[in-house]
Amino acid sequence: MNKQHIINRFVKYVTIDTESDPNNPAFPSTEKQWDLARVLEKELKEIGMEDVELDENCYLMATLPSNLDYEVPTIGFVAHVDTSPDFTGANVKPQIHENYDGKDIVLNKAENIVLSPDYFDDLLQYKGQTIITTDGTTLLGADDKAGVTEIVSAMEYLVQHPEIKHGKIRICFTPDEEVGKGAHLFDVDKFGAEWAYTMDGSQIGELEYENFNAAGAVITVNGKIVHPGYAKGKMINSMTIASDFINALPANEVPEKTSGYEGFFHLHTMEGKVEQTVLKYIIRDHDMDLFQGRKKLMEETAEKINKKLGKNLIQVEIKDQYFNMKEKVTPVMHIVDIAEEVMKDMGITPLIKPIRGGTDGSQLSYKGLPCPNIFAGGHNFHGRYEYVPVESILKATEVIIGIAQKVAIKFV
Ligand SMILES: [Zn+2]
Repeated sequence: MNKQHIINRFVKYVTIDTESDPNNPAFPSTEKQWDLARVLEKELKEIGMEDVELDENCYLMATLPSNLDYEVPTIGFVAHVDTSPDFTGANVKPQIHENYDGKDIVLNKAENIVLSPDYFDDLLQYKGQTIITTDGTTLLGADDKAGVTEIVSAMEYLVQHPEIKHGKIRICFTPDEEVGKGAHLFDVDKFGAEWAYTMDGSQIGELEYENFNAAGAVITVNGKIVHPGYAKGKMINSMTIASDFINALPANEVPEKTSGYEGFFHLHTMEGKVEQTVLKYIIRDHDMDLFQGRKKLMEETAEKINKKLGKNLIQVEIKDQYFNMKEKVTPVMHIVDIAEEVMKDMGITPLIKPIRGGTDGSQLSYKGLPCPNIFAGGHNFHGRYEYVPVESILKATEVIIGIAQKVAIKFV
């Protein structure tokens, strides 16, 4: 596999701004996502993919036909073209650091922005490798353009090496993953794969098939404004009541104090005046019973405070967002085993751990396409310290090729 060719491909993708927009209900949420989708459409045709089709919702699908004389399951690979609205993705200027020496990487001299292994110690495992970083002013977009690069590069390699035997492979690049809509208009029937993998994880070795159950909660607290000089017994300060609500929830079950399988309540927005305060939470838990319990606790907390006040001043509105894909993947566990075996064959230590978030794959799994997540190689997503070792992109590309081969062997 040609390293420079793959670097060039990755750089081409990340320099196309595809930031999505959580506040735009349109689909896709930003027009600029089409820019990369169209570039990819052309490129997939050029490398010899078949059925290349960019649909009206900005989903790009294509087929690599089987080169076997027997039937094996059709498998798929999925990545997303958009980048996170958490940090700007405009004018990305990737910096390539060859033969990384294990020291600080100065991202931006003028602004004194440094990527340091003292803080980001994961960097040290990539000594001697080629690291691609930002210039400190944007995110990089390795999430998930590393994944896109890997899928395109693996397909190109398989087209050019017909001696490698594989079944039918479907690929899809989706818009709007970062705003939680990547799977919404994904046509699972048209995709026609028995299972798929999102190439959207972080460090080399990651293999994930468990994610959070997720809900969003909006807590509305109503108060009453009266002239403060004459307020005794009349004013109701919604902000004070809101703070009672916040403090009634378990103080240690928050993102900054939890890891692994520990769930949380996360207050992410608070807007208040005396008259009304609105709290917005996300609720997360891997375990379905605990997840339901968290939702119930929020409702009970509001009820308790309302009862104490003798008035219904707090309203709770909870909406489920996505569920743990584990339930859909464990019945077809061989799809995880195949990826794990491929990594082990390649000398990569599989890092199987629960995702503390969701992926397109969790929603796709519930739409009938079981879809574990595989590393794409990047670190520090959604910010200026994002980076990716080129060697990890190469390994992920090889994992895709390896899975294609393994399916051909396993289902003889
Ligand atoms: Zn991603």
